[in-house]
Amino acid sequence: MATMKDFRNNVKPNWCPGCGDFSVQAAIQRAAANVGLTPESLAVVSGIGCSGRISGYINAYGFHGIHGRSLPIAQGLKMANRELTVIAAGGDGDGFAIGMGHTVHALRRNIDITYIVMDNQIYGLTKGQTSPRSAMGFKTKSTPGGSIESTLSPLEVALSAGATFVAQSFSSELKQLTALIEAGIRHKGFSLINVYSPCVTFNKVNTYDWFKENLVNLDQEEGYDPGNRIQAMTRLMETGGLLTGLIYQDTTKPSYEDQVTGFRQEGISKQNIQITEDEFERLV
Ligand code: SF4
Ligand code: MG
Repeated sequence: MATMKDFRNNVKPNWCPGCGDFSVQAAIQRAAANVGLTPESLAVVSGIGCSGRISGYINAYGFHGIHGRSLPIAQGLKMANRELTVIAAGGDGDGFAIGMGHTVHALRRNIDITYIVMDNQIYGLTKGQTSPRSAMGFKTKSTPGGSIESTLSPLEVALSAGATFVAQSFSSELKQLTALIEAGIRHKGFSLINVYSPCVTFNKVNTYDWFKENLVNLDQEEGYDPGNRIQAMTRLMETGGLLTGLIYQDTTKPSYEDQVTGFRQEGISKQNIQITEDEFERLV
């Protein structure tokens, strides 16, 4: 049985001291061990950004993709090898700006992968520009007079797009974050876990203290039903998205790959796919 240590490698993260992404890395490693994975049964696919480095810091199969494209790669990987547990990871700029089209369609497709977004409400790698997650009025080098665009609410978008697992946590809440990643991995379908992961170097507004003051923890809310999509949307809107915990889960919708015919589980045969002899040999 693998332990958390088995998911560590000897690559030293070059994140700034105090960056929220350290906790996300630790939570993925702990969750992977807790659900009984081995490094050989896990693949971590990441996009571009400070958080995108995470695939290189976990001892498992890894793929550091291109900007906004972690999800196409992760989905292709899962479709090609359904035995693998696939985690996609990246930042808010990666997933909710350039990659938002992929995010929406992966959500409604419900392919069985876990997508972890490290949301610091800024572009960190390029030294601090406004992202779709920055608040209106947020001042950076790219918006010196303050952002005049509305903030994107990705979890509200996810609920509208047909998501079956929507959760949110905070880097400082390692226990909750680990439990949510475990639940996301166990969920049969697409799991979106947004993590408030402070950028201590460039975001001086959304700090650890700011989140501690403003986040509402659903785990402490009596009567909250994660099976109720309307309630999930309402709580997100009421709190401006500053919620943590399991926000929504639908266990009834089948995953994408379970509905696609012609895959290994059902037995690939030359009759159900139109390919040449050579291509068939390569596939099976
Ligand atoms: Fe983390 Fe920000 Fe440093 Fe990037 S710039 S490593 S997001 S603290
Ligand atoms: Mg970011």
